[in-house]
Amino acid sequence: MLTAESDLLVLGKTIDIASGGKGDFTLQTKVLIKPEANFELSGFYKSGSAYCTQCEAEGFRRITYYLDRPDVMARFKVRIEADKAKLPLLLSNGNKVGTGELPGGRHFAEWEDPFPKPSYLFAVVAGDLGSIVDTYKTTSGRDVRLEIFSEHDNVDKLEHAMMSLKKSMKWDEDVYGLEYDLDIYNIVAVNDFNMGAMENKGLNVFNTAFVLAKPETATDTDYERIEGVIAHEYFHNWSGNRVTCQDWFQLTLKEGLTVFRDQQFSADMGSAAVKRIEDVRVLRARQFAEDSGPRAHAIRPESYMKMDNFYTSTVYEKGAEVIRMYHTLLGTEGFRKGMDLYFERHDGSAVTCDDFRAAMSDANGGKDFGQFERWYLQAGTPVVEAKGVYDAAKKTYSLTLSQHTAGTVGQPSKLPFHIPVRVGLLGRDGKEVVSSQVLELKEASQTFYFEGIEGGEPVPSLLRGFSAPVRLKTQQTEEDLAFLMAHDTDSFNRWEASQKLASQAILATTEALTEEKTPEPLAPTMIEAFRAVLKAGLDSESVDKSLLAYALSLPEELTLLGEMDVMRPVDLHKGRDHVKKTLAVALKAEFLKVYKALDQDVPYAVNPEEIGRRRLKNVCMSYLCTSKDKDAVALASSAFKRATCMTDSIAALACLASLPGSEKDEALQMFYSNAKGDPLVLNKWFSIQALADLPDTIDRIQVLIKHPDFSMKNPNRFRALIGAFANSNLAQFHAEDGRGYVLVADMVLAVDKLNPQVAARLAGAFSLWRKFESSRRNMMKEQLDRLMTVGDGLSRDTYEIVSQSLLSA
Ligand SMILES: [Zn+2]
Repeated sequence: MLTAESDLLVLGKTIDIASGGKGDFTLQTKVLIKPEANFELSGFYKSGSAYCTQCEAEGFRRITYYLDRPDVMARFKVRIEADKAKLPLLLSNGNKVGTGELPGGRHFAEWEDPFPKPSYLFAVVAGDLGSIVDTYKTTSGRDVRLEIFSEHDNVDKLEHAMMSLKKSMKWDEDVYGLEYDLDIYNIVAVNDFNMGAMENKGLNVFNTAFVLAKPETATDTDYERIEGVIAHEYFHNWSGNRVTCQDWFQLTLKEGLTVFRDQQFSADMGSAAVKRIEDVRVLRARQFAEDSGPRAHAIRPESYMKMDNFYTSTVYEKGAEVIRMYHTLLGTEGFRKGMDLYFERHDGSAVTCDDFRAAMSDANGGKDFGQFERWYLQAGTPVVEAKGVYDAAKKTYSLTLSQHTAGTVGQPSKLPFHIPVRVGLLGRDGKEVVSSQVLELKEASQTFYFEGIEGGEPVPSLLRGFSAPVRLKTQQTEEDLAFLMAHDTDSFNRWEASQKLASQAILATTEALTEEKTPEPLAPTMIEAFRAVLKAGLDSESVDKSLLAYALSLPEELTLLGEMDVMRPVDLHKGRDHVKKTLAVALKAEFLKVYKALDQDVPYAVNPEEIGRRRLKNVCMSYLCTSKDKDAVALASSAFKRATCMTDSIAALACLASLPGSEKDEALQMFYSNAKGDPLVLNKWFSIQALADLPDTIDRIQVLIKHPDFSMKNPNRFRALIGAFANSNLAQFHAEDGRGYVLVADMVLAVDKLNPQVAARLAGAFSLWRKFESSRRNMMKEQLDRLMTVGDGLSRDTYEIVSQSLLSA
């Protein structure tokens, strides 16, 4: 027996226990910790009036000495004692097995979790919280009590989360035959949280941003995200909790799989094509950038200094793409067989990505996934090049696919990947001459033949549904792209064609601006293709308006930046603006007509039709505001004043915020006072200003940092202002004078003292410095060097990011 007492927040790294002989022994530790002084938000800490925990990845060791590894599993019994008046609610994992009164106005609760679990899934919550309660009957007829907790004044914003939870439970039974296993399922929303949410067994702890919603405070995107994150954490009960990771290198085993499952769920709840487009937009903007920089890593990384730095877009989003490729290669049934075998073999254990791969193979007649392992070993985004040749005499079409992956830090050369490429061939009449099929590209170059192709040279539709996380290069002309945009039977690829047309135009315009030349006018084919989309917006009730809205949305700056050999963010911003403005001028009447037709005063509803209507209407508004004139101000002001839900209000405010005139400040003031202190609404208020495209954006941010509502201790608030600026306002962050860089480096240093995880993420904004033109490259490096000079004063989290960024390529 041993007692370790410490009044330090951070416990000593290790303790040595002299075994004193053979046999079993009991180790008892007693620790004293101060949750009120824990601003890292890892371990046991205080958020608002409540106490809570966050133990993934290595937070449990900040609570007590423990074998804090995911493969060490134990049954936990927890007793919590507290002042009853201040902390009436005492929660932990599993089932409640006892409660009672104690002297001095105190009380206790005892919890027992029957399932052995790793310590990262441990949770305790103690507070004075309100809740809503519901029940769910599982397929086998068991009743599960569902309860979602929040601060008392937020209880009216929990209904959507509850509905999402019930839908998730049903979906996992229907699609994967997986049932919930405890009698209760609790979710607690807290305002101070580093991540989105945490899947602790039977007691999820959520960032309020992913739980609370009502029409006046949450946008359509918030509603969709809440449904997705509630589902994600629920699905972890099987993919993560029942079968967990052997070590943290295997993080993608649970995260890639669970992200894929939540993507499938959201696709089933709404429009599958829209969901796919949204996911690919995120992947391209964030993960492709990660893959092209010094922090490129395989989905199963091979080393880390702080595990918290590996909760990355690569492990999560690319990890989900890798799971999706199994699904594409095996089909729905084959994938399900693989999942069944995976759970049958490994329920209750801590396993590896190889075990998952083996289950997928073994359940499908030994399908060869040997080469597929390279997705777990090699970093980087493969480039796939496609060349098609039509032989009119023989009526054959041959398609040559080649792949190449550029070297990344520590991995100078790469072997070919196993890439599923879904293709279809379209006739000139728009009908499919070859319907969708999956080609398996395994060599550096392979040719596939299609026979009996009548009616002239077909137009290939390649990488349908984005069947692999690659960059695709084709010989497609503007005419081909416009044709695909109008006729492709694959809705994802219709959108993709619009994005390629727009990318080509933006990158060509940017190049002209860099060389101080007059940009070429936009191709008439492109303008006509966009006109056709707008026409469809008026035409039919049955058209998915979200798809039209995304077809009209130009590619993200971050995605386009990754397409440039030398990154020139400000020129790119101007180039993108120029293309958007040109389209707006050419199609002004059409944009206005669609905007007016969709600007309806109807009761708010969250369903795909209404979300689509608002989305398309607001995209039209953003085009109409590119004129930056009085008409634009009048349009956005009126939209802002008439808005009856957060989606419309924030869309109008986002337009106004970058327009000249005093209207924006009046609107911002009104938005602020309408928020009445609601933290999630205030986050939006900060973000809108951080994202504004104004000559004085940086000055405005400097003022906002001193605003009484700004706080470095709350990760949501910090990210709303500083994170949004550094990651999403490229033109301002990379402003000519370098003030954006200094501001962000100042903020990294300031927040690093409180919350290293948040600081490390922010420091990542400099990691691609080598890819920029020389003056920005030098200024970014200067800030990285400045961060390094702090030396020991820097947290390990931030040190890891900064030092990796400086590593020679
Ligand atoms: Zn997760």
